[in-house]
Formats: sequence, structure tokens, C-alpha cells
Amino acid sequence: MSFESLGLAPALLRALAEQGYSAPTPIQTEAIPAVLAGRDVLAAAQTGTGKTAAFALPLLQRLGESARGPRKPRALVLTPTRELTAQVNDNLRSYAKYLNCSSTVIFGGVGMGNQVQALRRGVDVVIATPGRLIDHMQQRTIDLSGIELLVLDEADRMLDMGFLPALKRVIQALPKQRQTLLFSATFAPPIKALALDFLIDPVEISVAPPNTVNTTISHHVHPVDAAVKRDLLLHVLSQDSRRQTLVFSRTKHGADKLVKFLEAAGVRSAAIHGNKSQNARTRALADFKSARTTVLVATDIAARGIDIDQLPVVINFDLPMVAEDYVHRIGRTGRAGAEGLAISLVSHDESGLLRDIRRLLKQDIAITNVEGFEPSEPLRLDAGAPRPQQRPQQPRGQRGPRNAPAGGKPRPHGTHQGNGRGHTGNGSRRGNQAAGNRSHVD
Ligand code: AMP
Repeated sequence: MSFESLGLAPALLRALAEQGYSAPTPIQTEAIPAVLAGRDVLAAAQTGTGKTAAFALPLLQRLGESARGPRKPRALVLTPTRELTAQVNDNLRSYAKYLNCSSTVIFGGVGMGNQVQALRRGVDVVIATPGRLIDHMQQRTIDLSGIELLVLDEADRMLDMGFLPALKRVIQALPKQRQTLLFSATFAPPIKALALDFLIDPVEISVAPPNTVNTTISHHVHPVDAAVKRDLLLHVLSQDSRRQTLVFSRTKHGADKLVKFLEAAGVRSAAIHGNKSQNARTRALADFKSARTTVLVATDIAARGIDIDQLPVVINFDLPMVAEDYVHRIGRTGRAGAEGLAISLVSHDESGLLRDIRRLLKQDIAITNVEGFEPSEPLRLDAGAPRPQQRPQQPRGQRGPRNAPAGGKPRPHGTHQGNGRGHTGNGSRRGNQAAGNRSHVD
């Protein structure tokens, strides 16, 4: 299969060749012809599958095919995070290199002035987060009456983040006569409901079953006492100090504390989460991409959609509260067929979370003690074990890290294959219930 055979225009093919894309990914193979044919599309595809190009390429071609009116936006891409808007825009611009098409991003956390000016100058494509877009709608600084094409990117995450009312409001303000593309990691019932409301006879595409993971990723769990977890992290990082590593923390506060600890230990690192200013987030990502920092500590939502290719290793400093987030997290490694390593540092109180993840995965997880960091209590992985930590229901803002990191002294280094076991889950899913109980968002 080639990009030519999908019917893409020469200007796009030239840009793709320059990007070094030799063949379309499965989502692109299915979505591009459907979008070019003018169909609505409902696509289940995770980050890393090439989903951005799957909508951006035919979007650009469709805009090029029809006559342009006054420069009011003709396509709108809605995404859950600021990072994703920037990423989609970067990709779009590189594909549009030989087209006369302009785009701009709209997101919160920065002043509105530049955005208003860009809109006034006139753009073809707007890539926006829903909240800030509504601000522009209220201030009448954006005219959505010319939108021909709407893309909902990472729709499941937008719903998780509580954007449904905003989404509805935006969509209701758009012309009825338009093409709509909805991309989501899963086809959970709320996504289906959204599709029913806003898509017309969509082509349904699912390139990988939801919640399956790349089989080139190997999963490792190191049981450890919570008090010395961060020392174990340092130990694991020291195995290859030049390796770019994404570390997940469940909380923003935990991410900041971890960065302080790592920096004090001489590991160049930065945190990326929702409390950081847009500039700080952009800088942290740029520093990580250019290898000025070797460790990026991220919360789940901040990391979602970050475009970092083929990280060799992802470390879960804490396990996510929702098993599905494990799949999203480790989607950052082993991309495009490369081998990846997912390491989780798991304390006794996270046993229940690990059980959930094992149930969801269809792959083995090797459980290995690290010498010098053996836990005082083994993990409880039998099905009947109590779940000491159910999802906390405290109001937002009162939550702290569950595992108070403590200043344990570094222990002797060296790994041994203690109680290594392989496990295969039965693949059961708790998607909606879990999403409904999601407890930490940025
Ligand atoms: P996405 O799933 O949109 O986040 O894309 C993941 C990464 O794959 C991005 O860095 C894209 O630039 C890259 N990519 C997308 N399509 C292709 C392709 N056909 N060949 C090679 N790389 C691609």
C-alpha cells in the first residue's frame, strides 16, 4: 500500500516523502480514502498509530479541493490538551508545506491577544482546546460559520476531562452541513453516544482492538517499599544514565517532588503537568526532545498525546488508578515496531492496581525483586486479596500522593532475578466504570 494509491495530491506526497514516511499506517490506509470520499468517520486509534496524519492529510486535501471564501476558518480540530494542539499544528504544517493553507492554535493558559490577531488575519484551520474556544466564541473573536470539517481528536480523553458540555456547545454553533471525524482510543459507550449525536452514517474504523498493547513491549514490575521507591528509581535510571526516560507520576505534586529529588541526585529532569505554565510545559518537552534533560516526569493527562518517538523505556513511578491508563502510558514506548521496556515500581499498597492491570493486559509481566530493594511485604496478587486502596473519592485539590516519598538511603546496587514470574491476564475490561471513577486529572 502506498500514499499515492490512497489518492493523495502530489503536494502532499512531496511533503510526506520529505518527512520520510514511506508507507501509510493501517489507520491511514482506512481513514484517508473515507475522508477524501466525504464520509464522516468514527475511528478507534491510539496515539502512535499515525492517527494525526490519518485526519490531517485528507483534511488538507479536502480544503484544497473546494473554493476558498473569505479567510474564516474552514476546518476545526478539537483536542483535549494544549500540547496536543501544538503537536497537531506542527504535523499539519509539515504536511501543508507545499499547499497554501494556514493554521493556528487556540488554547488556555496564555493571553488571548495573539490568538485574536491570528484569527483576524484569517486562517483555514483552527486547532483548539474546547474551553478557550468557547471564550473566543463568547467574545465573538472567532467566526465558526465557515467550518466544513470538524475533527474531534482524542474524544475519549476530552470526555474524561469533563469537556462534554463544551463540546456540545461548540458543535451546536457549527454549520449542520459539514464533515465530522471522531478519533478516540476506544469506542466506549459515551463515545458511541457522541458519535450517534454528531456523526452521520460514519465509516467505523478500528485498527487495533481497544486496550491491547504493542507486543514488542516487555513489562517488568519491581516490588518495593514505598519509602525507598525513589531510590529504586534512581538505581534503575543509573543502569543507563544517557537513556531518555519518561517517568509517570500519578499526581502533579508527586511529579514536582520527584524532579527535585532527581535533580539533587544529578539527574537532569523536568516535570510536565497541568499546573505548569504553557511556557514551562513547552520548554520541558523541548528540553527532553533535544536530550538536554534525560528524564521527563509526567502525569497521565499531560503525557497523553505527547509526540515523542520510540522511547526505549517508560517507568511507572506509581501505578495509575485506572488500568486503562497503564496502556496509554506504555504506549509511549515500543512505537512503530521498536522494542520497548515498561518498568513499574510497585509498592504493597498498589497490589490491587497491579491486579487490575494484569487482568487487562494480554501479555506477561515479569515480577522481579531488585537486590537491595526487596520489599518488606510481598505484593498481593491473588484474586481474593483485599484492595487496600480503592479509588479515592476525595474532592479535587485535597489529594496528595499516596506513597509519601521518604528520604531512604540509597541501597547497594545490583539486580537479581528474585521470584520472577510470568503472568497472563484474562483481558477483562472495566472501561466505563473505571473512567467514571477516574480520580486524578490535570
Ligand atoms: P500519531 O499517532 O499521530 O501521534 O503519530 C505518531 C508518530 O508517527 C508521529 O511522530 C508521526 O510523525 C509518525 N507517523 C505518522 N504516520 C507515519 C507514517 N506513515 N510513516 C512513518 N511515521 C509516521
